[in-house]
Amino acid sequence: MKVPSKIIVAVHRLYALIDQLADQLVRMDNYWNKCFPCTNKGCCCVGVDIPVYEAEWLLIAEYLSKLCHEDIEQVKKNLSDNILCPFRLTTKCAIHTVRPLYCRFTPYMAVYYEAATEIEVMYPAANCTFIRQHCTRITGSPPQSFESLGGRHFIVITETVYKAQEFKLLKDFGDTKYLSELLFL
Ligand code: SF4
Ligand code: SF4
Repeated sequence: MKVPSKIIVAVHRLYALIDQLADQLVRMDNYWNKCFPCTNKGCCCVGVDIPVYEAEWLLIAEYLSKLCHEDIEQVKKNLSDNILCPFRLTTKCAIHTVRPLYCRFTPYMAVYYEAATEIEVMYPAANCTFIRQHCTRITGSPPQSFESLGGRHFIVITETVYKAQEFKLLKDFGDTKYLSELLFL
């Protein structure tokens, strides 16, 4: 199935919105400086099954044809080894350019905001460089709670994206599935 151009535009606007909100945080205080350098080479990608909207999956599927032979072989090997996200290569994400929304929230994706009454706290990996080094530098200890991790800022990012008209378009285009389900379609 082809993704209509208005949905492609919506997806890219949402991705840009996350970048823009994250940049605002970094301007407020460099402590928010995203993932780099991450000494764990993206350990947050290990063992996670990512929710992916249908339009995103179609864009990822299209992008796979652009991968080099070496990366495709590694993705195939990851699949046969039942690695939950097969796109994680040794030091990078094979689909970084088109990685889904939920990957883009990282490391700010601490909240899943489906409805006003339902908030689920989701930390990146326990040994995440961002949490271990950056938060500890400010508070003197690893974050003890969602609030001490900067909860309100994380909610603002997630909420702003979820309330955007573009998010409704993306959501209405098709179901959300988990990466592991999609890979076996
Ligand atoms: S798609 Fe990329 S960023 Fe997302 S979990 Fe997989 S390797 Fe990590
Ligand atoms: S979220 Fe944490 S573990 Fe993942 S890439 Fe960023 S700093 Fe590294």
